[in-house]
Amino acid sequence: MPTADAVSRLVQELNKLPGIGPKSAQRLTFHLLRAPEEQTRLLADAILSVKQKTRLCSVCLNVTDADPCHICRSEQRDHAKICIVEQPQDILALEHTRAYNGLYHVLHGAISPTEGIGAGDIRIKELMERLESSQINEAILATNTNLEGEQTALYLNKLISPLGIRVTRLARGLPFGTELEYADDVTLTHALEGRQEF
Ligand SMILES: [Zn+2]
Repeated sequence: MPTADAVSRLVQELNKLPGIGPKSAQRLTFHLLRAPEEQTRLLADAILSVKQKTRLCSVCLNVTDADPCHICRSEQRDHAKICIVEQPQDILALEHTRAYNGLYHVLHGAISPTEGIGAGDIRIKELMERLESSQINEAILATNTNLEGEQTALYLNKLISPLGIRVTRLARGLPFGTELEYADDVTLTHALEGRQEF
């Protein structure tokens, strides 16, 4: 690259981030080059802090700066319900709805035979240990609605149901704002099967 080494180094590093192509990496690099030094220092510090000052909650495996995390410690939350998600960012999405007040468990992945990811590669063991020694009476399977998420949900249902815990799955149906004629067959079938009393 016909530019300073430091510039091409930052372009290369940014280019490794998901969703950042070579053009975007260049644009961000030159933006930072023009930005006040204070702003770049804050950014660099925030990047380091996210690695150095966070860890996984020993109970739910969510990313936290205090252990147990504030959700696991909260007395305002319903400790009889657990929502099982693939990634920590799924918790952010669910919390944003304010529609759920129970606990969580993060699997850190999903079962995917094609990618060689088995049940032992994600945090199922921790989940089962937790369920066996808790007052949880409902497990909500909130894995993604793709092949891996469905396989993981099926597997978890087989493990959890025998414990006498009610197992539920997030409803699958039409996204808000959908026009029926454009919905795909799988989504429309799930929406029909999951129809509720009005
Ligand atoms: Zn926690």
